[in-house]
Parts: sequence; C-alpha cells; structure tokens
Amino acid sequence: MVDEKVKIPISKPIIGDEEIRRVVEVLKSGMVAHGDVVNKFEEEFSNYIGTSNGVAVSNGTVALDVALKALDIGEGDEVITTPFSFIATANAILFQRAKPVFADIEDKTYNLNPESILEKITPKTKAVLGVHIFGHPFDVKTIHEICQDHGLILLEDSAQAHGAEFAGRKAGSFGVGCFSFYATKNITTSEGGMITTSDREVAEKCRLLRNHGEVAKYQHAILGYNFRMTNIQAAIGLSQLEKLDKFNNMRRRNAEFFNRHINVEGLVKPVEIRKAKHVYHQYVVRVEDEFPMSREQFERYLKSNGIGCAVHYPTPIYQQPVYVKLGFGNSKCPVAEDVSSKVLSLPVHPELTGEQLEYIVQTVNSAT
Ligand SMILES: *Cc1c(COP(=O)(O)O)cnc(C)c1O
Repeated sequence: MVDEKVKIPISKPIIGDEEIRRVVEVLKSGMVAHGDVVNKFEEEFSNYIGTSNGVAVSNGTVALDVALKALDIGEGDEVITTPFSFIATANAILFQRAKPVFADIEDKTYNLNPESILEKITPKTKAVLGVHIFGHPFDVKTIHEICQDHGLILLEDSAQAHGAEFAGRKAGSFGVGCFSFYATKNITTSEGGMITTSDREVAEKCRLLRNHGEVAKYQHAILGYNFRMTNIQAAIGLSQLEKLDKFNNMRRRNAEFFNRHINVEGLVKPVEIRKAKHVYHQYVVRVEDEFPMSREQFERYLKSNGIGCAVHYPTPIYQQPVYVKLGFGNSKCPVAEDVSSKVLSLPVHPELTGEQLEYIVQTVNSAT
C-alpha cells in the first residue's frame, strides 16, 4: 500500500547553476561580507516590491526588530498583531518592550480581521503589525485606512508573501514591509531578510541599526547591532529574485490543481479573495468534523504515504509558554484558536511533478 519510493517534502529550496555561479564569483572576488552585491540586491528587490528603499539584514526576525525600533516603537506602546503566525512576529514587539495586543483573524484567509483590530485600539496603540499569512495578503486597503484614521503606523510582515499583491500592488509596499529569505520561503538567500519602505528617514535609521549606528568610519551615532547581510547571501538572492515570478506561478498552478481535484467532505480548501494575489507559501487545508479522520490522524496518514505535511501553526502565539509566563495567556481570539486546531499544510512548492500532484490528490481523496 505504502509506496516506499514516494517521499515528497513539504518544502524545498530550489538552487540552480546560476546561484552557484554567482556565489563562486563572490567567493573568488574576496569580497565575502557586506558590499556591492548586497547593495544591488537591495535595489532590485525594492524595485520589484515597488518601494524606493530596501535594507537587507541577516534574517526576517531582525528585519521586524529593526523596523519596529526605527519607527520608535518602545516601552508603553501597544502594537496590534495576529496570534496566528510564526512566533517571530510578536517577539519583535516584545524585543522593544512594547506590548503585543492580539486581534482575531478571519476564518477564510486566516488574516487579521479589521473589525477585531478596531476593537483593540486604545490611546496607547501605536502600530498595527499584520502578517500576509501563507502568502495571502491581508486586507491592506481597509487596515491601511484604519491606521490613517487613528494615526497608527502600518507594518507588514511579508515573510511569506514575496510577490503577493493586493489591488495590483505588492505586499510590503503599503506600510513598512519586512521580508525573510529563509530556506523554505518563496525565495531564499539561505538566511536573510529585507525591510522595504519608501520613507527615506526610516530606511536610514534601519541602515544605522543594522550596522552599529555607524555614520562614518568608526563614528557611531546611535546604539546599533551587526545585522548585516553578506555578498554571498545577496548573490543567491539576486538569482532567486529573477525566478520569483516563475516560482510563484508554479505554486499557484499547483494550488489550482489541488483546488480543482481535491474533493472530500469536511476538508476546507484555501481561498483567494477578490483583489488579492495569493502566492501560496503554504497550501493550507482545514480539517472539519465531517472529515473522516481527525487532523492528527490525517497528518499521520499522509506522512505514512510519503507526503510531507505540517501544522502551521498549532498554537496561537499567546498560548505559547513564553507568552503565558508574560501574562498573555488570557487573550481571547476564538477564530485563531479554532483554526489552529484544524489546519494542515500540504506540499505546494514549485518542484512538485505532475505525477506527485496527482498522487497527493489521490491520497487525500481516499482518506477514509
Ligand atoms: C519566517 C518568518 C519570520 C522570520 O523570518 P526568519 O528569517 O526565519 O527570521 C517572521 N514572520 C513570519 C510570518 C515568517 O514566516
């Protein structure tokens, strides 16, 4: 029954000859740390997103950290965010000694619900940090308007949404965008991150924070870190960026195939709302009571049939032990709690073959 030859990973970095050639070029040049290749990657990536500045950093977590710090978010400030994300999103708020305030999500896109944001606004609210979860943009238009009405800063955790769009504009170009280029993201630099913004002052502050607050050689104006990206990482990024649209099209094509052919009662498939372009960082299904297996049984069943799958994310962030200890445990986001108990991500990466797609569909549809 179990085909031993089948082994389909949930995600897969796709590194080609071009990436290898460019990395070797950097290695041979001797300029292996921060330099011109990083500058070029910043320019090309921010052009792609549609902002006038890009600040490359060592990973997505510090992109968030640096962006919040550059925006002067600190002690006494509240930042409204989603509990249904990777923990780095909310951690970035805690790093500033600011307070994450968790708003609930929508049960269709799993993104922040604008109405829930409105309920959480207080005089202390300084910013909204949304996440384009799984590659589906949050309702940037409505949330941007809420921010403008209430004088709040908008940040977009775009770590899963390279190339995603809302109303024809790229995710990461509405507020201050924070990207990750970790190995499993839509494009990778191995580890890496980028802040995108058209606000030159914010970008300059980010550049200082990234590099010891250095304004001129050994002149340090503010307290800063070493969060620099290397030319080696940027060389990978430049090649990956050239392929991003192709990768995303393949993810979308794979998702369409699943949407068309997966058909079991009690399995809710992902949606793409009007105005949104979903880039399927993950293809996430929701296992409802009518489904013949529990989510855990379904996960074991797929894995025993060679299909990689994972739960993103099993616990709302405020229920993580570190957050419970800090007193966030009594936050209440019923939709996020319900969704966390039901979601399962299937492989959707660009290297899935037609045969593998069919095998996944067939295996899912024969769950009993
Ligand atoms: C991956 C990810 C991050 C963190 O990025 P790293 O590069 O792994 O530090 C932050 N937020 C979200 C939503 C992510 O998926």
